Amino acid sequence: MSGAEWYADGLRFQCTQCGNCCTGPPGTVGFTAAEAKELARHLGITEKAFLRQYARKVDGNWSLNEHETEHGLDCVFLDRETVPGKAVCGVYEARPTQCRTWPFWPENLRTQRSWLTTRHGTPCPGMDTGPLIPIEAIRIQRDAKKGGWLDGEG
Ligand code: SF4
Repeated sequence: MSGAEWYADGLRFQCTQCGNCCTGPPGTVGFTAAEAKELARHLGITEKAFLRQYARKVDGNWSLNEHETEHGLDCVFLDRETVPGKAVCGVYEARPTQCRTWPFWPENLRTQRSWLTTRHGTPCPGMDTGPLIPIEAIRIQRDAKKGGWLDGEG
């Protein structure tokens, strides 16, 4: 990226645990081989069992499964029961990079307009509220997603 990013002064973000980014129209949540291993360890099952029970292949890459709910297609790990009124991640400590780095994805940061489109389109009420996330931290999250999704047979 050349020149200063439009978000050089940082961006505010604080998740409200609404779950909107973990549901909606069909989507994919990719993960690396190391993340698959960590998810399996977290769930106390083998990697093979993890892939069989919780993932599927989309265009050659593994993705977490989703299932139909009244809210849309929820991530298989989205938990709407445990905390009343909240939608929390059931594998939070072991969640993949794609989830850890939301909403600081390259496509959301491309322009201020992309950011606003995501904020209103998802919608993500956590964007532009809460603590100021400095540019250095945003860059780390923005650039964390490069390649390496698990694409083998598992
Ligand atoms: S849409 Fe935003 S506020 Fe809602 S769960 Fe996702 S990150 Fe949090």
